[in-house]
Amino acid sequence: MTIMYSIVAPIFNELENLPELYRRVLHAMSDMHGNWELVLVDDGSNDGSTEAILALAKQDKRVRPVIFARNFGHQVAITAGWDYARGDAVVIIDADLQDPPELIPELIWKWREGFQVVYAVRAEREGETWFKRLTASLFYRIIYRITDVKIPVDTGDFRLMDRKVVDVLKTMGERHRFPRGMSAWVGFRQVGVPYRREARHAGVTKYPFRKMLKLALNAITAFSYFPLQLATYFGFLSAGLAALAIPVVIVMRLVGSQFFEGQATTLIAVLFLGGVQLISLGVLGEYLGRVYDEAKGRPLYIVSRGPEE
Ligand code: UDP
Ligand code: MG
Repeated sequence: MTIMYSIVAPIFNELENLPELYRRVLHAMSDMHGNWELVLVDDGSNDGSTEAILALAKQDKRVRPVIFARNFGHQVAITAGWDYARGDAVVIIDADLQDPPELIPELIWKWREGFQVVYAVRAEREGETWFKRLTASLFYRIIYRITDVKIPVDTGDFRLMDRKVVDVLKTMGERHRFPRGMSAWVGFRQVGVPYRREARHAGVTKYPFRKMLKLALNAITAFSYFPLQLATYFGFLSAGLAALAIPVVIVMRLVGSQFFEGQATTLIAVLFLGGVQLISLGVLGEYLGRVYDEAKGRPLYIVSRGPEE
């Protein structure tokens, strides 16, 4: 049996959202020609989502469960979705119904027009705190400015990708992943579709500030050397300042000026440079740690139960 569409949803403790997700996907896909499958990647849930996914799969063969051995994170769950999806077009969608499944047919129409990546752009966001909206907006704009890939702003992981694109993405084995950056990096014919991001159907966000920060770090380090280059800029800046200051201080001493008296000036200069050096070292360490992770070559995720088991 050939599958035309794969719909992939990463799931981390979304028990209350599962039935509604299934119902709305079923409804949205009912008018579509071609077979479809719903790949539910359970990212180490402990609220009973796992059992609910397995029960759903038993009742409807189009539902394919991929159960992780523990929580590996949203980005990795999406990666497993790419690996397990069999469709000619693969749609990634959040399980909390912030991304409306009713938009999927619209993404599919664009795909039929010949676009290979159709990403959904958040024109409006509902039911999120001002803090989340502000940090998200800043995040997209900073990433856009400093990374080498033009990653569309206000765009999450909700998107459709052609089989060709997914096959390329599957060869990208990087550990610290930023799927929306990766899918922009590969190129192909891309287009955005605006939509209204709804409030969560039920439950609370699984993205505390800590995880958002981690995602931002992944995005920056995976697609830019900017933080590393900052050390060079700071180095040139302080070397330049020193080159200017040395003759000035010498002349002032010779004419008997007491302007640079005391230890405070020295202390400030030493502390400032010491701080800059330590921060640069930290940035180096951040990249080095990531290189180390790559070198270990561990599997990205561990599946405790696949769709065929
Ligand atoms: N998610 C996941 N693993 C995690 C955190 C989240 O698979 O470690 C899933 C979650 O179940 C949801 C999607 O990723 O389907 C987006 O998460 P969430 O809605 O909590 O993020 P937000 O929309 O608040 O940014
Ligand atoms: Mg959400």
